Amino acid sequence: MSACEAIHPEDRTACEGPQDAVRVSDPSGGSVLACVHHGARILATVTVATVAPAEVPGAAIDAYRRARQMPPCAWQWDDKPMTLVEYAVWKGIEWDPTRAECVRDAVVRLHFKVDGMSDERAFHLGTSQIEATDTDLSLIADTLGVTVEQLLGGDFPGPRPGNTTEGTD
Ligand SMILES: [Zn+2]
Repeated sequence: MSACEAIHPEDRTACEGPQDAVRVSDPSGGSVLACVHHGARILATVTVATVAPAEVPGAAIDAYRRARQMPPCAWQWDDKPMTLVEYAVWKGIEWDPTRAECVRDAVVRLHFKVDGMSDERAFHLGTSQIEATDTDLSLIADTLGVTVEQLLGGDFPGPRPGNTTEGTD
């Protein structure tokens, strides 16, 4: 099944629902029909584009709302989640993460389960009640699948774009 007209060449995700749900237009007069999923992605990427209803009532509003929760070029993160650093850039947050913040965010990201570490210690680290030792750092980095340098730079998977709550992945 081919995709709707709005899909980006690098986007390999499937359409969601009818492929003529919305019409996305740019100021020069060009326009494409889109499913709500790819319509939202193109809206988030081409910020001057506008969306109008096409064949599905309510879909334009749905696409507009989704686009506001999405980074530009969202397909870049289909196979790997954004890192915390990328997330901060997207959100426009000036963020120079401290060691404690990186440890906390990483442990929370791991749902307080760190290989080789007691649940109690992981909880204390994830709630910033104690400072991480070098051993803690390597355990956390190993569990995340990154180096200690990446861990301390916030360069590890952060929240999924479009998700406001932690998923169950
Ligand atoms: Zn589509």
